[in-house]
Amino acid sequence: MSLIITSPLRGWATTLDSVPDPVFAQRMMGDGVAIEPLGDTIVAPFDGEVVTLHDAGHAISLRSAEGAEVLIHIGLDTVMLKGEGFTPLVAIGQTVARGDPLIRFDLDAVALAAPSLITPVIVTNAEAFAISRRSTDCAIGACEALMTLVPVQANVRRSSDDGIVIEQTVKLALPHGIHARPAARICEAARGFQAELHLLNGDKRGAARSTVALLALGTRFGDEVVVQARGDDAEAALAAIAALLATDMGETAPAAPSAAAPPRTTLQAGQIGGVIASPGLAMGPAARLRQAEIAVASEGVGAAEERAALLAARDTVRAHIAARADSDDASIAAVMQAHLALIDDPELIAGAGARIAAGRSAGFAWRGAIHDQIDAIRATGNAHLIERIDDLVDIERQLLSALTGTPLETAAIAAGAIIVANDLLPSQLVALAAANPAGVCLTRGGPTSHVAILCAGMGLPALVAMGDALAAIEDDTPLLLDAELGHVTLRPSPADAAAFAARLAKRAARRDAAQAAAQEACRTADGTRIEICANLGSAADAQFAAAQGAEGSGLVRSEFLFLDRETAPWEDEQHAAYQAIADALPGKPVIIRLLDIGGDKPAAYIPIAEEENPALGQRGIRVALARPDLLETQLRAILRVDPVGACKIMIPMVASIDELRQVRTLVDRLRSDMAIADAVEVGVMVETPAAAMTADLLALEADFLSIGTNDLTQYVLAMDRGNPAVAAGVDAMHPAVLRMIGETCRRATARGRWVGVCGGLASDPAALPILIGLGVTELSAVPGFVAEAKQIVRGLTLSEARAHAELALQCKSAAEVRALSRAFEETRR
Ligand code: PEP
Ligand code: MG
Repeated sequence: MSLIITSPLRGWATTLDSVPDPVFAQRMMGDGVAIEPLGDTIVAPFDGEVVTLHDAGHAISLRSAEGAEVLIHIGLDTVMLKGEGFTPLVAIGQTVARGDPLIRFDLDAVALAAPSLITPVIVTNAEAFAISRRSTDCAIGACEALMTLVPVQANVRRSSDDGIVIEQTVKLALPHGIHARPAARICEAARGFQAELHLLNGDKRGAARSTVALLALGTRFGDEVVVQARGDDAEAALAAIAALLATDMGETAPAAPSAAAPPRTTLQAGQIGGVIASPGLAMGPAARLRQAEIAVASEGVGAAEERAALLAARDTVRAHIAARADSDDASIAAVMQAHLALIDDPELIAGAGARIAAGRSAGFAWRGAIHDQIDAIRATGNAHLIERIDDLVDIERQLLSALTGTPLETAAIAAGAIIVANDLLPSQLVALAAANPAGVCLTRGGPTSHVAILCAGMGLPALVAMGDALAAIEDDTPLLLDAELGHVTLRPSPADAAAFAARLAKRAARRDAAQAAAQEACRTADGTRIEICANLGSAADAQFAAAQGAEGSGLVRSEFLFLDRETAPWEDEQHAAYQAIADALPGKPVIIRLLDIGGDKPAAYIPIAEEENPALGQRGIRVALARPDLLETQLRAILRVDPVGACKIMIPMVASIDELRQVRTLVDRLRSDMAIADAVEVGVMVETPAAAMTADLLALEADFLSIGTNDLTQYVLAMDRGNPAVAAGVDAMHPAVLRMIGETCRRATARGRWVGVCGGLASDPAALPILIGLGVTELSAVPGFVAEAKQIVRGLTLSEARAHAELALQCKSAAEVRALSRAFEETRR
């Protein structure tokens, strides 16, 4: 059973790393979160008992009924103030309820007298509880969810052979399993002990001091991993590693904005499309990066010489990486730490050593050892781990470069150039970044690779997976990189280049203003409240979205949990995922779309008979109703989210009111089985013309309606959204689609139900004034667009939006609507 720790005061939540005191920053007292206070009252973070209250009134600890112990330490060195400025409101032994005031303090006086007001909130009994989720880098109010604790299972079992092996099972809370960064942390922790330590995942077993062995375990979120220890300090080592594994290791914070569902775009001649790895706009000449193979002799000159050469090369590379690991940029530092662990990885060293002993050269041996591990990782089939192969290739190249004296080709990029490469290794990007490139275009790569993470951290626009078409780009080709719409334009006309430059400048100014006001609620200039939410695929997305000012989520694509795997996720796994998303957006509405499988989203374990027209066949709620086992499991997982009602339920692909009724009946039965008295909202997606035209009837029984413009467009225009032959015509700004949206709003709002848009049109700046004018009051956009969407809405009055929408409905084509929108924007500059 997890325990939610709510924030004991209002402020800015940050990681303990930001606390300028090693006692807290190095977790000597335990793990937790720090808060830069904006409020002056500490309140109870859960129902419990006051265990300690320092005489100086600056620190208090509480114990929950479950046994979790939490210390709240107001400011640093505040013990010196001897109680000056602190007013305790409770006594030791007192029972308190969540939100009860505990200590009041004089914010100004303490701020003047103490070196820092930063307030660590620490879980002090780490042997019993681990943090599975935490809110950091966000504004937080008192009583909003700060951390989720999970008990560390104490199922220690002893057996004995030549020594005592003790083991413990831990359920992994890492959202992407043990990948490079967590592996590096585990290795580092393991190195602090003498004991022999291993991790087991099913029938795979790996040494805890080897990051590659840990990667090859192929773990995923929720796996039950067994930790085994043997040796002098086995108990302490086991406790430390098990406690670490039960945490999220800070991984719920987003490394890169989600690339899910970028706004749909139609490619013109001279454009190449790609997947957005890091959003933004850039213009500049292409700078091609060509990567030569580093040749190495296969035979060595003698084992002793080769060993010495390998050792020396590892020393060189280690020193080089260590210098970069000092970076102020947290994402660079984290990636470099992972690389440091790889250069000293015992499996790699053993693999290379064995080859050297067999007469191979150091370079050949190192390359062989790396490729053994790459093969093992590929065999796991885990997409996240496979993206980490780049890190191994990176270490291979760096070491071979040091061994052979071959320079790595990263020097010759001019400032402002757009890097064009087949692929880019993290170390190459870090080296190239010093030259101030404007953007990155890659033939290969994935949106969650380390290169994508680094680009996002550096604010460098990047497109990946652009395919072989990129090979046509030569050095110095002028490029317009649009990592908002997902394409690059080659050799633009002077007019296109000028328009792009103007867009770049305008967007930069608008982004600055939008970021400054991101956390404020959104209203039109004449005061109409419009909620700006984010479309999410994971808890990491949710945290990123919260930082961007999202007022909730209008669409959680729950199928992210169901796709790319062999079996459906079990209830606990789903519940943990939904809870984590709700925790990341405390007090804000989160709309979970029920499983939307079928059509363009197949899942191997949900067999659907071959269909002539999959888009018109078993899709969305039709599949879910045909598989009540899956649907019930998902509904139960949603209903279990704490607090009840935090998550609303949304039904995809509704074509008739009967589908809504069937889901509602099921929800009511489950609520009664689960003794849930509070109502839980159930809404429908408007993705079919049938739903749009019966919005008034649906509104009689649905709590809300949200328009999925991606599917609505394909069904209104009878154009497959995934068919490149008709892609040019699939534009949601088509007046027919806009009329459907207007009709939906008119019919549903007359019945008192709100209408939102969660399809791609909500992330299209040109569409926002029209949607508001048509009567939409909630927009759910890609997370990276949230702050900007708020700013656009703030600049509109309802009456001008209505007039503009009215004109749009009279246009004869999508192109005419887009021209009208450009003119509308022009008049407002
Ligand atoms: C839509 O159809 O607009 C929608 C939001 O759903 P998806 O794109 O996931 O099908
Ligand atoms: Mg859809």
